[in-house]
Amino acid sequence: MTIRHAVTLSVGDELLAGETLDTHGRTIAAALAERGCRVLEHRVLGDDVANIAAAILAATASADLVVITGGLGPTLDDVSREALAEAMNEPLVEDATSRAHLETWYAGRGRVMPAGNVRQAMRPVSARCLENPNGTAPGLQARMGAALVVVLPGPPREMRPMLEGVLNEQLPGEPRPAIVIRAFGIGESDAAERIEPLMRRDQKLPVATTVSQSLLSARIRGNRPEDRELIESLAAQVEKAWHPYVFGRDDVTLPMALGAEIKEAGRTVATAESCTGGLVGSMLTEVPGSSGWYPGGWVVYENARKIEDLGVAAELIERDGAVSQSVISAMAEGARRRAGSDYGVSTSGVAGPDGGSADKPVGTVWIAVADEAGIDARCFHFPGGRSVIRDRTAKTALQLLRLRIRGDASDLLWQRDASS
Ligand code: ATP
Ligand code: MG
Repeated sequence: MTIRHAVTLSVGDELLAGETLDTHGRTIAAALAERGCRVLEHRVLGDDVANIAAAILAATASADLVVITGGLGPTLDDVSREALAEAMNEPLVEDATSRAHLETWYAGRGRVMPAGNVRQAMRPVSARCLENPNGTAPGLQARMGAALVVVLPGPPREMRPMLEGVLNEQLPGEPRPAIVIRAFGIGESDAAERIEPLMRRDQKLPVATTVSQSLLSARIRGNRPEDRELIESLAAQVEKAWHPYVFGRDDVTLPMALGAEIKEAGRTVATAESCTGGLVGSMLTEVPGSSGWYPGGWVVYENARKIEDLGVAAELIERDGAVSQSVISAMAEGARRRAGSDYGVSTSGVAGPDGGSADKPVGTVWIAVADEAGIDARCFHFPGGRSVIRDRTAKTALQLLRLRIRGDASDLLWQRDASS
C-alpha cells in the first residue's frame, strides 16, 4: 500500500504552554514531502489520554500514516502509549525484547533500571516496538484499519533517526527531486512578477516562493526521478529572471556564496562595522576557510573609534553625522587601507528604537564597499525592529560586496535615492 497522506500529532503539555517550540511538525513534514507524502493536518496536543486517543482515531479516518511524537517517557504524565492502546481498544502487554533492551541500556551505564521505566517496554498487544538506539523509550508502530500509526519519542536526537528508519521501510525509493533557488535583495512581489508564468498552479511543476529572514527562495519539486530535467530547466529560468540577486541553490548560504566568489577571485575583504556591531564579520567567519580571504575588521561603535581606529576625519562626522555618505565611505576605505585588503565593507545606521530624527529616521542605514577603483556607497531605509534592521544591514552588505566583485550595478531592496 502506498502512503500518500499523513497526519502528524505533537504531544506534550510543554508545547501547549509555549515552553518548548514544536519543531517536529515541520521536520516530519519536510521528510515526508521529500518522499511524496503530503501532510493533511498537524496538531499539538497536551498529555491527555482521551484527547490523544480521539485525535489518533480521527487521524486514521483520513490519513494512511499517522505520526505521533512525544509522551513516551517513563513518567506518569507521558501517556501516548496508553492513548494508542485506548484508540486501538487493546490492552498493553510487556514486550520482552524491549524490556531486555532497557535493562541492557541501564546495565551498560552501570545503573539499575528504575521501576518506572518498565512502562516503556509496554505496547498495545498487536503493535510492535521500534528500537531506539539513542535513548530508553522504544517507539511503537501499529496498524489501525488502512492506516499505519507510529509513535516516536520527543527528544529530537532520538526522534530523527527513528523517523528515518520508519520512512526508509515504509516509503522506500529515491527521494523526490527538488531544487531550491536562493536570492537576496529583491522584493517578493517583484520576484514573483518576474516568474509569474512559472508560478501558475496549472503548470506541471509550479514554482513556489517563500521569504524567511529576508532571504527569498523559489522551490521546484518533482514527483518522479524523471522530472529532473524539467526541474533543471525551470531552475535555470528562475535564476535568469532573478539575476543578479540569486546567490545559490539548495543549502548554500549568502556568506558561503560570497566566500566562494571572493576566494575564486583571489581577493580579500576587511570590515568596518558600526550599527551591525560585528554581525558582518560573524557571517563571514561562518564560512569554513574564511581566514584565507577575511583578515578581520573593526567594530567602531562610537565616533572616537571611527576616528582613531580607521582614520575617519573628525570634521566629516561633525559636518555630516556618523550615518552619512562621507563617513561610511571613509570607514570602508579606512578598513581597506589599514587591513591591506582588496575590499573594505562598512555599515553605519540608525537601528532604533531611539536615535531617529526627521532627517534620519530609524532604519536609515549607509553601507559601502571600497576597492581600488573607488567606493560604492548606498543609503537604505529598512523597515522592522532593531534586530531585523541589523540583520538586513549585514546581509545587504554581503550582497553589495558580491555585486561589486561581479561588476554588477543593480539596486537592492530598500535602497533609496541618496538625494531623497
Ligand atoms: P522522554 O523520555 O525524554 O520523556 P518523551 O517521548 O516523553 O521522552 P517528551 O517528554 O514529550 O518526550 O519530550 C522530551 C523533549 O523532547 C522535550 O522536552 C523537548 O525538548 C523535545 N520535544 C518533544 N516534542 C517536541 C516537538 N514537537 N518539537 C520539538 N521538540 C520536542
Ligand atoms: Mg513529555
